[in-house]
Amino acid sequence: MMPDFCPEIWPEIPTPNNYLNCKDCDLYKQGTRMVWGEGNPNASIMVILDNPGAREDKEGNQAVCGTRQTLQKAAYESGLKMSDLYVTYILKRRPVRKYDKDVTREICMGHLEQQLLTSKPNLILCLGNVAVQAFFRNPDAEVKILRGKWNEVQGFQTAVSYHPLAVRRRPNLWPFFLEDWKGFVECYRRLLEK
Ligand code: SF4
Repeated sequence: MMPDFCPEIWPEIPTPNNYLNCKDCDLYKQGTRMVWGEGNPNASIMVILDNPGAREDKEGNQAVCGTRQTLQKAAYESGLKMSDLYVTYILKRRPVRKYDKDVTREICMGHLEQQLLTSKPNLILCLGNVAVQAFFRNPDAEVKILRGKWNEVQGFQTAVSYHPLAVRRRPNLWPFFLEDWKGFVECYRRLLEK
């Protein structure tokens, strides 16, 4: 029998020194901490979210927030471990005030592209409309239309699903979310067998 799921704090991936004081976009003026990602930087699967959540406070005290709990539960129930996943963001800082969304995302995506070059994941799972629209560079891209199939984006096989927080707020999305993760993992396993 599988042990009960228990969410945990995954190790944060330190921001590379040359990006620590990044001022490429105006978000640094909002004072939130830079969060590069968490999990395993060498994992075959990269999960892309929109931006770090509120609990990533300036002192860096991590917490198992709702997003993490839901994401980890889906990963666990579809047979993945923390070491299988590298979780990162379109924006490495959390916006707390108004900002120029399109310009900021485009600038910070340069860092994501570097991460992709360095980590070379086999598969990408992009969660939530904001991350999907930015990563697909398509303002009309929508999870509900793109889920359940593979999309080649920036040269990477990419699947999409809902944002974990949206799933938390609307529990009726959970079965669809889990179905997406399970389908994704099935392909991942097949890929490993090749
Ligand atoms: S959000 Fe991205 S581009 Fe903007 S300051 Fe932070 S790391 Fe740099």
